[in-house]
Amino acid sequence: MALTYIGTRDKNIQATASEAILRGICPDGGLYIPMEIPKMEKSLEELGKLSYQELAYEVLRLYLDFTEDELKACIAGAYDEKFDTAEIVPVVKKGDALFLELFHGRTLAFKDMALSILPYLMKTAAKRQGLKEEIVILTATSGDTGKAALEGFAGVDGTRIMVFFPEDGVSPVQKLQMTTQEGDNTCVVGIKGNFDDAQSAVKSIFTDKELEKELAAKGFRFSSANSINIGRLVPQIVYYFWAYLKAVEMGEIHGGEEIDFTVPTGNFGDILAGWYAMKMGLPVGHFVCASNDNKVLYDFFRTGKYDRNREFHVTVSPSMDILISSNLERLLCHMGGQDAAKAEMESLQKNGVYTAEITEKKISGEFATEAETFGAIRNFYEETGYVMDTHTAVAYAAYQKYKKESGDNRPMVIVSTASPYKFTKDVMAALDEKYAKGDAFALMAELEKISSVKVPKPIQGLEKREIHHKNVCEKGEIKDMVKGWLL
Ligand SMILES: *Cc1c(COP(=O)(O)O)cnc(C)c1O
Repeated sequence: MALTYIGTRDKNIQATASEAILRGICPDGGLYIPMEIPKMEKSLEELGKLSYQELAYEVLRLYLDFTEDELKACIAGAYDEKFDTAEIVPVVKKGDALFLELFHGRTLAFKDMALSILPYLMKTAAKRQGLKEEIVILTATSGDTGKAALEGFAGVDGTRIMVFFPEDGVSPVQKLQMTTQEGDNTCVVGIKGNFDDAQSAVKSIFTDKELEKELAAKGFRFSSANSINIGRLVPQIVYYFWAYLKAVEMGEIHGGEEIDFTVPTGNFGDILAGWYAMKMGLPVGHFVCASNDNKVLYDFFRTGKYDRNREFHVTVSPSMDILISSNLERLLCHMGGQDAAKAEMESLQKNGVYTAEITEKKISGEFATEAETFGAIRNFYEETGYVMDTHTAVAYAAYQKYKKESGDNRPMVIVSTASPYKFTKDVMAALDEKYAKGDAFALMAELEKISSVKVPKPIQGLEKREIHHKNVCEKGEIKDMVKGWLL
């Protein structure tokens, strides 16, 4: 029997998986959650024999209303040679942790894990629903989602994709990755504002009934490639199982024993997928939710008070520079129900603050300052020779604090969300101050020498590519930009 999805602000809003994927967000602005989180049917022992693709099938089939053939075609299309390793996601042991390397896809960040498959899920859902309109993907990005979504949707017929990114809030590599994107169905716009501004504008466009009508008349409908879409969230559950099974295979744990995860967090999508994996039956001891200086989640998990009224910091881990973590709404609803979640979100909208009772004790917050992040990169490299990117380093520094404070000595998986090459400049500056003034692209050759990891193919020669997207707009002009491109 196929799973039903319900709204986080109203349980009478219901949808099949296909409908939820196409809509992206509920008509009332809430998010879709599974009415009941399914249990993993196969044993860990059986799952341990599977390839990444086979494991993905065992997880995804519990969440999607697709046929076996449809789902297997989606998975085969997504997890193939686009990844630079046949394993798709290597798990490596370095120092006192296991690193779940989620950055071996085309855009060098973990967003590829979900955005490689999302276009296939959407096409299949559209076919199942008999959709006639062209799908327009509207995306707000803090740096990594944008490129991963562009790669996924560029040239996919029946779709168009439009991306908004903070003009001054992404790394040089991230920016060029997006502005050099090819494909007639793509549009990339820098905004004078931060990710929260972009995400709020895009979310309000999704619930704008008038605009919806205007677009429908032209044969378009909107959907989302942000992690508010369950089509993003569900594929991310797979790699938590994968990490666990690899840890067993490597002899780090016995099957059934608990393991911990530290997740560098922004919009709370990645860690929420891990929480779903635990609810499905994966033996997880604890989740450390790691923040950078924008530590709104750290404060929330300590006090139960979520307060976005604070200074916004542009950090060296820009993909986590977020003050409104959208997916937390899902956890709030799982913990306290729709009425509570709705009241909390209204309070957030109105006053920028809410309080909630945190009944989930297996998640705690930690954070790392800029200095701690740099220190983690440098020290860990000196100890092990392994170079972490800035986001992974936030997680590692947070893990060190958690370990000290909690005394917890279960094995720890650091969810490694980006390749150090995506943030070469800051990574090199962390390793040695003498690199601080260097050019990001010139420094890649240095990084290659010291890390003995080759410059990944997708960004070789990036600085020489032609820039196709030069548009910049004020944060209040996002809707006009959308209309300008489509109508
Ligand atoms: C998006 C991103 C994160 C944060 O993930 P969320 O799902 O938004 O919490 C962390 N690190 C990198 C490199 C990212 O791209």
